[in-house]
Amino acid sequence: MNLDLLFVGTGGSAPTARRGLPALLLQRGGEHVLIDCGEGTQRQLMRSSGLVELDLVLITHQHTDHWLGLPGLLKTLDLREREAPLTVAGPVGLAATVELIWKLAGPVRYPVAVRELEPYDQIERSGWAIDAIPVRHRGPALGYVVEEDNRPGRFDPERARELGITDVHDFGRLQRGETVGEVRPEQVLGPKRFGRKIVVSGDTRPCDAVREAAWRADVLVHEATFTGEQAERARQTGHSTAAQAAELADEADVGMLALTHLSARHRPSDALAEARAVFPDTVMPRDFDVIRVPFPERGDPVHAPGAGRPARRGPGAAASLDDPEADGDDAGPAERAANV
Ligand SMILES: [Zn+2]
Ligand SMILES: [Zn+2]
Repeated sequence: MNLDLLFVGTGGSAPTARRGLPALLLQRGGEHVLIDCGEGTQRQLMRSSGLVELDLVLITHQHTDHWLGLPGLLKTLDLREREAPLTVAGPVGLAATVELIWKLAGPVRYPVAVRELEPYDQIERSGWAIDAIPVRHRGPALGYVVEEDNRPGRFDPERARELGITDVHDFGRLQRGETVGEVRPEQVLGPKRFGRKIVVSGDTRPCDAVREAAWRADVLVHEATFTGEQAERARQTGHSTAAQAAELADEADVGMLALTHLSARHRPSDALAEARAVFPDTVMPRDFDVIRVPFPERGDPVHAPGAGRPARRGPGAAASLDDPEADGDDAGPAERAANV
């Protein structure tokens, strides 16, 4: 089963020509969960995955760069005559924000449930779960741990035949944990295999909750709002530098670190170099990049630049701003907003 991360918006604080505000689409099989919904997210989705069937939107915290896209998205789903229920979950204070959205934008006709999460609350799904972890930003802020259930061990058909099992239907029963005659599943199955784990930090200074949750995660998506030159500013504002994120990834022994929430105040290439000097398996996705997370026995996570972007139509169809290979990534005015 596929497990993919589509980077819908990789900027922080204020959008730039190339980077939208925070949004990350998690796709597992036919399920889609959106983590954060910065301003412009619905259009970013339309330019990539389309407005997929979401049933859950997770918000990391209340700063506007992380949720201001929600009113527009909720209203558009209503215009499209959505009927399926939608859950919006996030830290304490979210219910008041959603109430404000209804006051400003009017109600929608499909059911929207708001769930305020305490640290370590879990949202269960079939075969996987999402845990909220307390991160250290300003005000209530959560990171999210996406973790699949353990999988049964690998089936050994040779061993099964030695034990007298020959019918393929019996192979299936043993793999599902049933006993067949005298043969028990543990006689023909290897040790249980771990499911995949992805950790998303949200905005945070380096913190133990992320470090612990990210232990041996396949992918850690961590904010890197600043570079080392601005370490003091990072500390004051509850953010991380690229090197701090990399140190944490190294300590947690993750498979891949993906840096996001990039500020226009520094060059992404500098932040990436800073992080890679500490943790080489670091990537810095642009908007519409995808990270594919295979089961560990099938290989390492793969960063696929531009994979979430529909194919171009004909020569000259793309404006230069759309060129993912163009340089000069995020040259823009330094943002000064306090609440980011
Ligand atoms: Zn932010
Ligand atoms: Zn913030």
